[in-house]
Amino acid sequence: MNWEQPAPELSPATRPNAAGAGREALKALISGLGEKAFRGGQLFEGLYVQRWTSWDQFSTFSKALRERLEAEVDLTWPAIRESRTAEDGATKHVFRLGDGMEVEGVHMPYADRTTLCISSQVGCAMGCTFCATGQMGIRRNLGAAEIVGQVVTMLNHHHHPAGLPVNLVFMGMGEPLHNLAQVMEAFEILTDPKGLAIPPRRITLSTSGLVPGIQRLGSFERRPRLAVSLNATTDAYRNRIMPVNRAWNLEALSACLQAFPLGRGERITLEYVLLHGVTDSAEDARRLADYAKGFPSKVNLIPFNEHEGAGYQSPTEATLDLFGRVLSQNGIPVMVRRSRGQEVGGACGQLVRGSEAEDLEADASAQ
Ligand code: SAH
Ligand code: SF4
Repeated sequence: MNWEQPAPELSPATRPNAAGAGREALKALISGLGEKAFRGGQLFEGLYVQRWTSWDQFSTFSKALRERLEAEVDLTWPAIRESRTAEDGATKHVFRLGDGMEVEGVHMPYADRTTLCISSQVGCAMGCTFCATGQMGIRRNLGAAEIVGQVVTMLNHHHHPAGLPVNLVFMGMGEPLHNLAQVMEAFEILTDPKGLAIPPRRITLSTSGLVPGIQRLGSFERRPRLAVSLNATTDAYRNRIMPVNRAWNLEALSACLQAFPLGRGERITLEYVLLHGVTDSAEDARRLADYAKGFPSKVNLIPFNEHEGAGYQSPTEATLDLFGRVLSQNGIPVMVRRSRGQEVGGACGQLVRGSEAEDLEADASAQ
């Protein structure tokens, strides 16, 4: 299987769209209208500091320029088609993109920060057996603007106050290392000190363990933090639930993580989804602890979020407790991450797949 296979490219837009564009593209756009280049900087700040959503809000521009932009340039962010808020305050959004395809993002409010979970692809090629997105297959990569668009749209929708920190995790739909160029372009826009200014250390990219992609990520001087979805502690089992393991097994992955250039105090996060009776034994916990000792790391335990057709179950609280204790006793920093917004389809891919199923039912009943 060729894991490097690129997903189909975006179809070219007919009109330029400023929403989600980078500094250089905005400068080129504004120069193309015969304006001075510094107006491109003002446009960037209007989009990402003020988070203006219509041209008439651009008070830094003359009326004539605002009218010209209105006539010639789109300012269209991804549309929210559906939102569901869970009891814990997490809101899951389904975004409809320009071509009608859909991805999801989650807004999680905390007292001292907001965490946003975003998608990097429509669907995913990796085929993990426990994952709703994996069951969709891959439709296409997202462009950088669509990645940035999810962030700006959620911040606007929830009236995010200036000054409250934002954490960003690429843990929605897709394998971000299959779309690294667009993810890194989005990263540059999101971290720009004269824009949204999200600090790089607050951004985490989660991968299923694509070794060449991890190596490429490590070659960037400015990059997000790395999280790896381990999910099993033997090759025999990881091969079964994560096909990527047949190309790069646990040993190859560990060698790659040991060589990954880390900053001062930086750790690699190992994510571990507990599947009841399958990957949640005390033996697994001990093997995971050994694996995690190979490089500076911390472990996030994620109880499996049940969804239709998955064929797996969540672990019991007692098992989860014991599993965590084995790791702590071995000196591994461990956190339990419950998928927030569980009852609204908290795990990756579930809301989009749910709505596709509803669309299909609607289509069928219309016939
Ligand atoms: N593709 C990337 C990032 C998106 S998935 C990756 O796999 O790392 C984000 C996390 O959700 C991964 O750790 C994945 O193992 C986990 N996950 C997927 N389906 C889940 C489910 N039903 N319940 C709990 N976690 C799930
Ligand atoms: Fe893709 Fe991640 Fe789901 Fe695996 S767990 S299918 S890599 S989104």
